[in-house]
Amino acid sequence: MTYENSLTFAQKLDEQDELKAYRNKFHIPVIDGKETIYFTGNSLGLQPKSTIDYINTELKDWAQWGVEGHFLAKNPWFAYHEMFAEPIAKIVGAKSEEVVVMNNLTVNLNLLLVSFYRPTENRYKIICEAKAFPSDQYALEMQVKNAGLNPEETIIEIAPREGERTIHNEDIIAAIEDAGDSLACVMIGGVNYFTGQVFDMKAITDAAHKVGANCGFDLAHGAGNIELKLHEWNVDFACWCSYKYLNSGPGGVSGVFINERHCNNTDLPRFAGWWGQEKETRFLMEKGFKPMKTAEAWQMSNAPVLSMAAHKAAIDIFDEVGMDKLLKKQKMISGYLEFIVDDVNELLTSSDKSLEIITPRDWKERGCQVSVIAHGYGKDLFDTLTKEGVISDWREPNAIRMAPIPLYNSFEDIYRFGEILKSAIDN
Ligand SMILES: *Cc1c(COP(=O)(O)O)cnc(C)c1O
Repeated sequence: MTYENSLTFAQKLDEQDELKAYRNKFHIPVIDGKETIYFTGNSLGLQPKSTIDYINTELKDWAQWGVEGHFLAKNPWFAYHEMFAEPIAKIVGAKSEEVVVMNNLTVNLNLLLVSFYRPTENRYKIICEAKAFPSDQYALEMQVKNAGLNPEETIIEIAPREGERTIHNEDIIAAIEDAGDSLACVMIGGVNYFTGQVFDMKAITDAAHKVGANCGFDLAHGAGNIELKLHEWNVDFACWCSYKYLNSGPGGVSGVFINERHCNNTDLPRFAGWWGQEKETRFLMEKGFKPMKTAEAWQMSNAPVLSMAAHKAAIDIFDEVGMDKLLKKQKMISGYLEFIVDDVNELLTSSDKSLEIITPRDWKERGCQVSVIAHGYGKDLFDTLTKEGVISDWREPNAIRMAPIPLYNSFEDIYRFGEILKSAIDN
């Protein structure tokens, strides 16, 4: 598509946008009486206007029924989490038995590593990307230490090549082949949180399996953003949070994928609690853990219904829209942001100033996010953008991360951002 940097062009795209009605289903933050240009849906997605009713329904049922709400509530709490299996499976490309919603992301990452990082004397190494999200780095470090191993000798980090910003998939695959028999597990952020790079998850999974290792992905920046086919790619495990692209509220519940091969293996080591126990015997309160044969077997506790109600409000919107339409607009709107940043960059004539997009240019290797290094600028550029109503994310020393979200960002948002950026770089 050929883009133009003009208000009429942006408005024309908005008119043609088949998702345009959805913007009004979200609360767009207002600052100083003006709607903000919200580009941080990759950090905290916006609140659907329906969320309050979903939560209120549960509060009312709790008031009316007390404990009986587990079975008598409109959405019985005993089985509340089960309502997510079908719609979440569609979002991540899984079978409904392979997904469950529970806990928070880093908790789930640790639980999955308990099952899928099982170091032995000869097979103990783990591969991840360099500069992974810190929470993931800490989880890996301590899983390794818990196994009595030294992180320095155990964790292999794959970095971009000298002078480059993103990682070559073939470098990950080469490292997997190099580690060979010594490799126990690969655990990578499927979409890098900093650059927005999407990794070739199928090729990485295949390579890991070839050397006999497990392979999993942290999809905090993937779920609800990019096309995922976790089952078809034969991924072993994955987890994601619901408060970024999935709009389910701060600290919202996390989702987990466990390949059916592993769900069927009731001998697989794991941490356990009563909500993972077979339903037939769960309330007999007897000794002896008998896991369910679905991803639910990794649940330990009963469902946090209030935060799940917020998740349900958001997931119902995803289910109504479907990933196909989201992906179609995602390509167009992130492409438009890329175009606008490039267009503004052309105005910069001084040699020490430029706006460098570090997100892959190929749309197949990115989702919504566009990350920009503002060479020659400091945090005052970001502060000016914020003052003018652009909510984006700043990383020291000079990176701006932005994610236009298909459900609620408009093409006009992008155009207006370009105008603000233009006057900000002039000052
Ligand atoms: C956002 C994010 C987290 C946050 O973890 P929580 O447990 O939800 O606080 C972890 N890992 C990655 C890769 C993230 O992007």
